[in-house]
Amino acid sequence: MDWNSEATRKHISEAKAQGCELIGPGKDFNFRLYRLPCGHEQEIQPTHMRRDNFRCQTCLDNKLREEAEEQGCALLGPGKNANFRLYRLPCGHEQQIGPNRMREERFRCQTCLDTKIRGEARAQDCEILGPGKNANFRLYRLPCGHEQQIQTGNMRDGGFQCQICQENNLRKEAAAQGCKLLGPGKNAMYRLYRLPCGHQQEIRVHHLREEIFRCGTCLDIKLRGEAKAQGCELLGPGRNYQYRLYRLPCGHEQEIPAPRMRRGSFRCQTCLDIKLRGEAKVQGCELLGSAEKGMQCPWRWNGGMISLNLGVIWEMSPKIISAAKSKAALISPPSIMGLRSRRKSVR
Ligand SMILES: [Zn+2]
Ligand SMILES: [Zn+2]
Ligand SMILES: [Zn+2]
Ligand SMILES: [Zn+2]
Ligand SMILES: [Zn+2]
Repeated sequence: MDWNSEATRKHISEAKAQGCELIGPGKDFNFRLYRLPCGHEQEIQPTHMRRDNFRCQTCLDNKLREEAEEQGCALLGPGKNANFRLYRLPCGHEQQIGPNRMREERFRCQTCLDTKIRGEARAQDCEILGPGKNANFRLYRLPCGHEQQIQTGNMRDGGFQCQICQENNLRKEAAAQGCKLLGPGKNAMYRLYRLPCGHQQEIRVHHLREEIFRCGTCLDIKLRGEAKAQGCELLGPGRNYQYRLYRLPCGHEQEIPAPRMRRGSFRCQTCLDIKLRGEAKVQGCELLGSAEKGMQCPWRWNGGMISLNLGVIWEMSPKIISAAKSKAALISPPSIMGLRSRRKSVR
């Protein structure tokens, strides 16, 4: 190295500007040996020196060694890349860990963890075959011989089930009911089946097992026919499993229990409302509620409230209402019992 060359004199002054000293050649043409402000010597590229783009590796190593000792660990050497170092952990196992994780105590021994997880699997008569889809899962061989990914926590407390065996069981249960398992349902409780009639339907697996199911399509066809026989049309589902929405012969739509539709024991509440409203008006009353709400319904008369049984009004409204008027029996709202006794008093 020619200490008097123009390049070397430039390197000397650039080092001086960083508080360093050029003390000799480096391992090759690209490096030079410097003494750093801390006193340690290190080979650095002159361009890095010029841009202040270096740090003392000896000081860094000392710092990382101290940080490791604080966690009861020992720094053994470099890791697979600049982000990792090799450490010996308190348990004695060696592991590559990022210095930040070491400093913040965010690490655990993978070897010890693997041993623990393997022991937990053995306790469930299972065997670890390999890693799972993420750190929480492993691939296991289950006691039945099937392979499945399971969360290590579920393996620990035995909260797992062989999916293949479970599906095989469901297939058998379906066959026992003359059905065929076709595939998954809207959630884990349901599966899609072909029923004995040939229609497909999602059914809860335990309903199928306990034979608590019927074909919705066949039922629909039946209800459609029963509605047609009454001059009505089935429009769709109702407020619960008993009810369906129908279009009645008058054109109004109404929810009616299917058995009532079958027997023809229903009447249009809208038409009834219209009729009652008219009758009330003749009596100087006003129907406040809807006939749909039940048999008991509030009426307004003479500034007060009166509640009368719609069935009664429908049959003999003028008589009842005029009786109620004459007694000025304004009750808000009266009980059904009250209505009955009033009815008696009319007779
Ligand atoms: Zn240093
Ligand atoms: Zn360990
Ligand atoms: Zn299995
Ligand atoms: Zn069917
Ligand atoms: Zn109607």
